[in-house]
Amino acid sequence: MGTEVRIVVYAPTVEAANNASQAAFARIAQLDEELSDYRESSDVMRLSRQAGSGPVTVSEDLFRVLRMSQQLSRRSDGAFDVTVGPLSVIWRRARRLSEMPDPVRLADACRLVGSDKLVLDDEYRTARLIAPGMQLDLGGIAKGFAADEAVGVLKEHGITAALVAAGGDIVVTDAPPDADGWHVAIASGFDASSRRQLTLHHAAVSTSGDAEQFVALGGVRYSHIIDPRTGVAITGRSSVTIVAPDGATSDGLATAVAVLGWEKGLQLVDSTPGVAALVMEKTADGIRTHESAAWKERSSTQ
Ligand code: ADP
Ligand code: MG
Repeated sequence: MGTEVRIVVYAPTVEAANNASQAAFARIAQLDEELSDYRESSDVMRLSRQAGSGPVTVSEDLFRVLRMSQQLSRRSDGAFDVTVGPLSVIWRRARRLSEMPDPVRLADACRLVGSDKLVLDDEYRTARLIAPGMQLDLGGIAKGFAADEAVGVLKEHGITAALVAAGGDIVVTDAPPDADGWHVAIASGFDASSRRQLTLHHAAVSTSGDAEQFVALGGVRYSHIIDPRTGVAITGRSSVTIVAPDGATSDGLATAVAVLGWEKGLQLVDSTPGVAALVMEKTADGIRTHESAAWKERSSTQ
């Protein structure tokens, strides 16, 4: 999935810690095999290659990720959409070459994007991409999902206090012994004053933004997050942090809110049980912060 994963566990012995974390890493490697669009052999690439033909039986993991993605796509009015693949390919190339994408190619790719063109069948566990040329990109949700699954494996090994960080997507269980939680620092990528410290247990936190991956074209910064409805990469300078009960939710929502912008994004967050969000925007007059209702509540009690 193109990222580094770090696992921290509290265990009675070194051996127990090693056994559990090795099993968790093995689970992550397995998910990487299934979900990565960088691997030709992955389940997700296999499905993309069958675009335009009949339904394909997929792994249980891929089916679950696609099911969650479809739900988020619906709830976010298409701002989050794993069928964004054809656009991702174009924008990845634009970043590599520092070259503005051709508007005609973008318009063509847009026609291949839309969650209505991804058909899932729960009974047979099949997925179908209805138009030839469609392509999936799970980059906005797979890391959070993988962190959730790793935590699940650690639990099966009797580890109750753990932290799994898959890039910017972090999932934690019980607080470390004698602590009130795991201390997670969020950096917006803007400046030191926008750093925040969170104390978390049994939660997931994800941050999305343009701090790391972007391309500057004609004086405008284009992020690696794309608005699937217009085909254009987002340009506003913002950083979105989501706290949620699980990593797939925090990861997916962070991407969705980055596309929706703070106003609509926080409406979506406020209507999602157990989820809090902080949006920081860089404007001409400095950094503006916007907090969801649950975030305000969290901050007042910490
Ligand atoms: P990061 O990968 O930096 O942690 P995100 O979780 O926000 O950041 O995911 C961004 C990735 O999600 C992109 O690199 C791309 O693969 C994919 N993506 C981009 N735009 C969308 C979108 N609108 N909906 C779903 N996935 C997207
Ligand atoms: Mg994400």
